[in-house]
Amino acid sequence: MDSFSTLVRKEWSTVFPESSMVFWTNLFPFVSLCEMTGLMTIKNYMTIDVEDYFHVSAFEKQSPPSTWGDRVCRVEQNTDTILRLLDEKKCQGHFFILGWVAEHYPEVVKQISSCGHEVASHGYLHQRVGLQDRQTYRQDVRRGKGLLEDLTGYAVIGYRAPSYSITRQTEWAFDELLEAGFLYDSSIFPMKHDFYGIPDWPRFGGYAVSDGDRWYAADRCEEDQRGFANYRSQHCGWATKLPDRGWWLFSSASLLDNTHGTEAYQQERATAVCFYLHPWEFDPEQPRMAGASMKSRFRHYLNLDKTEQRFRRLLDDFVFQSIAAGLEG
Ligand SMILES: [Zn+2]
Repeated sequence: MDSFSTLVRKEWSTVFPESSMVFWTNLFPFVSLCEMTGLMTIKNYMTIDVEDYFHVSAFEKQSPPSTWGDRVCRVEQNTDTILRLLDEKKCQGHFFILGWVAEHYPEVVKQISSCGHEVASHGYLHQRVGLQDRQTYRQDVRRGKGLLEDLTGYAVIGYRAPSYSITRQTEWAFDELLEAGFLYDSSIFPMKHDFYGIPDWPRFGGYAVSDGDRWYAADRCEEDQRGFANYRSQHCGWATKLPDRGWWLFSSASLLDNTHGTEAYQQERATAVCFYLHPWEFDPEQPRMAGASMKSRFRHYLNLDKTEQRFRRLLDDFVFQSIAAGLEG
């Protein structure tokens, strides 16, 4: 493992080798054989946020942490499904695991780690950053990190905030992550969303650096700067950008718009793709959340029965590596 100073001095182009929006290749017959060959060698990132259906922020009113212990848990069986598929296709995944899951289902963490996938942190209690004060957040990230390190026996260096909730209003979270010992972060969604996002943040990976006053995106981090690698999860897998609508989620693939997909492909073909999914997206039989809004139910339950077949297709068509492996170049 490289030292922190080595990591932060890596060029953007090293961290993100010549690569492309690979999943578009299934959609656009005009892509040449030559381009296709190149696309197939690009290493992308298949990230899984390991949480259960009742942890999601969209259900936070209906499912506060005080009720979690009484709910039927599905995270073990659904994570098993993902591990089985990754093993079947010989793909490496990257798992951001919720501390609550690690505490209640330690075998999930051990199994992910023993299968050779990278273990990273998704915090402890899945509370959006902006809903916590700084001290509570500090305790949350350190508790989640510590639980994973106790179970895996190695340093956990990656972090993704619940619901990508590091925003301009919560930049102090970066200071906390650095002080907790994280070397890279994947918490910024470069779009406007009702729960998260920094719309003017670059869409591709690089560094988050601080001038002592505020944090900004950069393509490198000098040795005298505070900063760390930052992966923007710009895509949700099998998605396309629709005009002024942001990114449709993996489960909404039936709503693809080829025109804008083509445009996105052409604009973004110089970078790897960071997909993300959750175990509950593989579970059409999961208990339904009573009292959730129509919008939340639509986003959460749409096309769950198609996730596995689409996931298989992604794993068949493209190459994946862990974020830490990408950092090592
Ligand atoms: Zn989450």
